[in-house]
Amino acid sequence: MAETAALVNGYTVTPVDKDTWRITDIFQDYMYLVQGKERAALIDTGMGQPGLSRVVSALTDRPVIVLNTHGHLDHVGCNQEFDTIYMHPSDREVLGQHRSQAYREKIRSLAGDAGLVLTEEELQSIICLGDQSEPRPLQDCQMIELGGRKLEVIHTPGHTGGSVCFLDEDARQLFSGDTICHLGVMLSFPESVPVSGFADTVRKLKARERQIEKIYPGHHAVPLDCGYFDQYLECAARLLNDPEGGTAEHSVFDDFYRYFYKDVSLTYKTVE
Ligand SMILES: [Zn+2]
Repeated sequence: MAETAALVNGYTVTPVDKDTWRITDIFQDYMYLVQGKERAALIDTGMGQPGLSRVVSALTDRPVIVLNTHGHLDHVGCNQEFDTIYMHPSDREVLGQHRSQAYREKIRSLAGDAGLVLTEEELQSIICLGDQSEPRPLQDCQMIELGGRKLEVIHTPGHTGGSVCFLDEDARQLFSGDTICHLGVMLSFPESVPVSGFADTVRKLKARERQIEKIYPGHHAVPLDCGYFDQYLECAARLLNDPEGGTAEHSVFDDFYRYFYKDVSLTYKTVE
């Protein structure tokens, strides 16, 4: 299908196939709406740009559940606009940290850079969970039934301990969040797992590669092919053999190292 992007309520909507859409917020975070016959799953909710639920209801008339790939603020920002949220329990702590006022202020400033002025009410609602005190748990191998379509939860610790990917085996689509991305995967957070653990995760995904034609990540180039598994495995192997081989990077929040290989890179603090 030819990709024709449309602007809906300030979000960019790009069809993936007749029952799947990629939704992009102004911060260039990707969400995916995966529709079955009985309900639809929204994979991630972006940075908190208000009005995502109206975009979703313009695309599907089915009940919607939210599936978070992990607990970072640029994937959970509009959770409060939906009733039913699922996330792996290992990311509860980082989700709690990202609900703090300091993170909301960061979002306000990023929104301002992107030309969006958030009202105080909108800012306060970002990364809240409505009536739910905690998201419902996801676990490895769980099947999410959507009616004639299902998503398998694959626990993929790396970027965070509670990161998951979602596999639609029939459509051969893997929704990978920040676990597999073009350019790089960040393993430099306190909530990240060691490089060796990330390599185990990529091996787990590579074991499924015959069931995957296209990978739909949370950022950057899309879609990706399974060659990215090999690039990340090689990048991790080289890094484990050459812990001094990374380049120092500094951001306003953090200092870390980045190890490059072909189209990918891994950020890290120490190599284990
Ligand atoms: Zn993340």
